Amino acid sequence: MLAQSCIRPPIMLLPDVTNKLQPRLSCTFTKTRPLGFSSSGILSQISLHELIHSDSSKRRRHHMRNHLIVKASRDYYSVLGVSKNANKTEIKSAYRKLARVYHPDVNKESGAEDKFKEIGNAYEVLSDDQKRSIYDNYGEDGLKGSNMGMGDFGNPFDLFSSIFDGMNLNYDGPGNMVYDGEDLIYNLVLPFKEAVFGVEKEIEISRLESCSTCDGSGVKPGTTPYTCNMCGGQGQVVSSARTPLGIFQQVTTCSACNGTGEISTACNTCGGSNGRISKSKRITLKVPAGVDSSSRLRVRSEGNAGIKGGNPGDLFVVIEVLSDPILKRDDANILYTCKISYVDAILGTTIKVPTVDGTVELKIPAGTQPGAVLVMAKKGVPLLNKKNKRGDQLVKVQVQIPKRLKIEEKQLIQELADLNKSKVLNSRR
Ligand SMILES: [Zn+2]
Ligand SMILES: [Zn+2]
Repeated sequence: MLAQSCIRPPIMLLPDVTNKLQPRLSCTFTKTRPLGFSSSGILSQISLHELIHSDSSKRRRHHMRNHLIVKASRDYYSVLGVSKNANKTEIKSAYRKLARVYHPDVNKESGAEDKFKEIGNAYEVLSDDQKRSIYDNYGEDGLKGSNMGMGDFGNPFDLFSSIFDGMNLNYDGPGNMVYDGEDLIYNLVLPFKEAVFGVEKEIEISRLESCSTCDGSGVKPGTTPYTCNMCGGQGQVVSSARTPLGIFQQVTTCSACNGTGEISTACNTCGGSNGRISKSKRITLKVPAGVDSSSRLRVRSEGNAGIKGGNPGDLFVVIEVLSDPILKRDDANILYTCKISYVDAILGTTIKVPTVDGTVELKIPAGTQPGAVLVMAKKGVPLLNKKNKRGDQLVKVQVQIPKRLKIEEKQLIQELADLNKSKVLNSRR
């Protein structure tokens, strides 16, 4: 299995644990749908103030009703089956339960999509403090008048995916949810040179694979699941209570089948639940030249197996490169500092420089200044995914001035100093 792509995100902080199961990094609900809400453009142009206080606006509304089909006001609380003083958690949970039941991918009955939109609409208003307060005081018309109608998500499917984040959901029937497998992260530590030139590594990961005994169904072979009697296969139990304020519906996950809609005998090998068992797998990884710390390699479909036919997750290999005591890396360039004597700096010399390709001779030109940087072209790191392109090695020159001199040396330096003095005097004349 080859690494198929390489991306370099901003530095990621990860626990120093190899081969640890991590939650899915990013999840999207992939199905797209046309816009579901038709916001009432004309109505929304009437201000809230007008709607509440002006008689003329009432007349105008009556007038418009002759021309527009205005939907009867719905009670958002009863749409979600929650009480008027339900808190945000209760509202969200009610939405999640209902949206699962009425999602058009699950529910093929006519009217399910409209119901799904209605649920989304109700949730959008009740989950927003400001909208909910306007709705409580002035009803649906108040929202339309305040221009605060259904807008933030617009598309009920976007709303759905924002609520169901953290998991990839597909549907192939009531109570029969298909989950994509989780992505896995493996931390790979590489020596400096292997990161520069690339390497082939065999790694061992442990991951959840589809159980071969039950073929990933979680159901004991030879047994057949039957529809749950308690919920009739819906996975939810709806109860209603009559109160002075109206009828309230309460939707709860069916306790008999845990919301799956069916009762089955668990597979002995994987223990049922989701038809997956932990296994270890060796994967040969081709690490491209030029990777650096925090580079991530993505190996498609080598993460955890999906549940009930969902797609497998990906394996992300996060690379950490060990530093070298002599050569420092700066992206595609390699930094090195050499020390030369003041005499060599003045007269020029040739030195031996360690590089990733081995020792290479470098000519220091006469008159090299302290701190000068010499470029050894194409002795740096190959550019990631760009064959035949390499960075440079940059050699910083440190000039050493002796702290003590031998007698002869001091005499010669003194002569040099005298020579310089006379030069200066001559130039002043
Ligand atoms: Zn099994
Ligand atoms: Zn049930």
